[in-house]
Amino acid sequence: MCGISEPIKYGHDAIVAQNTFDFAVGHVVSWVGGHWIFTARRAQRQSREVTVTLYFFDTHAHIQRSRSGRCPDVRNLLLRARQTGVRAVLAPAVDHADWDTLAKITPPRGLNLYVAWGLHPYFVCEVTPSESATIVEELYDRVTSATSELRTRLRAIGECGLDFARAQSPEVRAHQVRVFRAQIDLARATGLPMSIHCVRASGPLLELLRERPTPPAVMHAFSGSAQTALSLVAAGHYISFAANVCVPGARKVIEAARAVPDDRLLLETDSPDQTPPSRRPAPNEPAFIIDVARRLAELRGAELEAIATLTRDNARRVFGVEEPLALHEFDDDDQP
Ligand SMILES: [Zn+2]
Repeated sequence: MCGISEPIKYGHDAIVAQNTFDFAVGHVVSWVGGHWIFTARRAQRQSREVTVTLYFFDTHAHIQRSRSGRCPDVRNLLLRARQTGVRAVLAPAVDHADWDTLAKITPPRGLNLYVAWGLHPYFVCEVTPSESATIVEELYDRVTSATSELRTRLRAIGECGLDFARAQSPEVRAHQVRVFRAQIDLARATGLPMSIHCVRASGPLLELLRERPTPPAVMHAFSGSAQTALSLVAAGHYISFAANVCVPGARKVIEAARAVPDDRLLLETDSPDQTPPSRRPAPNEPAFIIDVARRLAELRGAELEAIATLTRDNARRVFGVEEPLALHEFDDDDQP
């Protein structure tokens, strides 16, 4: 039980450590030395110390990128994530240069790193249709001929999708649709799920996904309505929430976060973007996933531990992860 040599006592009014917050009625939680500690007020009005360790799967983190460009200090980023309970990360590509970068990252022991290869709709806006056609062809070749070692880590196609806020003209929108449709076809051909970005394009997105049977996909950093979320769930897909649910007054996405059934709910940071409000102005990172989990637990009236567990299990299912996650702490010298 790393870092805790004797019980640490927190009264219900005592907020004394970093990352302290109300867990639920009658609880106080703190992240201390690798464990979540909370004091539970029991029905008999007794208090007792309980140690809970929470483990997370961050289903969307661009660890290969910083806000200012490529390659932040990935190793320390992942060590900090591991230290705060993250046990798996899916890192999606934005463009073709990311594919090899992601494949070469070696995560620290005990943190499983998975990758998605694809082309982001932002990137599609920056290249010509003939350039994207060549890159899509390369994506097909490389994914369908991936070695078994790479396939163990390559668990999704993405980040791909539609962003009609970025693409205003009919031509650019049609270009995004073409490139996205090609990636949907690749998902169908390989059986891999997609990590999908969708902004102001939920109608066309649903149409494209319904054209033919499509493997379950992940709607990343979902920002749509509860109705759209439930339509996607009905079509077999998963809904992943980032820190936009933490923004006060984000009524539409909050309704969606309450509506998604337990077995389709996922957690992500979308780091380095979408820093939770309480962490700003720091760039976002997987270690901050606890903020999203805490908010979802609050919105859904659920235990934080239940949110961590069910989202982790859902992520393993949709990404076809068979290897076990290390659900214990690390006492080694691999500290950030
Ligand atoms: Zn992303």
